[in-house]
Amino acid sequence: MKDCLFCKFVSGEIKTSLVYEDESVIAFRDINPQAAQHILIVPRKHFDNVTKLEDVDRELAAHIFVDVVPTIAKKIGVDESGFRLVINTGKEGGQSVNHLHIHLIGGEPLTNHFGKGV
Ligand code: AMP
Ligand code: ZN
Repeated sequence: MKDCLFCKFVSGEIKTSLVYEDESVIAFRDINPQAAQHILIVPRKHFDNVTKLEDVDRELAAHIFVDVVPTIAKKIGVDESGFRLVINTGKEGGQSVNHLHIHLIGGEPLTNHFGKGV
C-alpha cells in the first residue's frame, strides 16, 4: 500500500535489519523500545488493523501465533522468562502505524499496565 511505512519495510524500499522473516511475515526491532526486547511482527500483506483479517487470512493468523511468536521468543531468549504481545487497534487503541503489527515485548519484568489515556 502506498505511503505505508511497514509496506516499505516489506518491499525493501526502506532497509531495516530483520530479526525474523519468512514467506508471509517480517519482524524487526521497534525504533522506540518500551523494554529491553521490543520486536514488531508484521505480515507482508497489508491490513489496516486486526479487524481487517478475513476468512482467507486464517492460516496467516494461525501461523503468526503458532510458529512465528514462539520462534522469535526463543531467538531473543524470552521464551522461558515470559513476554507480552500487544496489538494496538485504531485511534483509541493507540495505533500509530496503520499496518497490522504485533508488539512482542520482554527481556525484563513488565509492569501490569493496560494504559488509559495517551
Ligand atoms: P503502534 O503505535 O501500535 O501503531 O506501533 C507502531 C510502532 O512502530 C511504535 O512502537 C513505533 O515506535 C514503531 N516505529 C515507528 N517507526 C518505526 C521505524 N522506522 N522502525 C521501527 N519501528 C518504528
Ligand atoms: Zn502496509
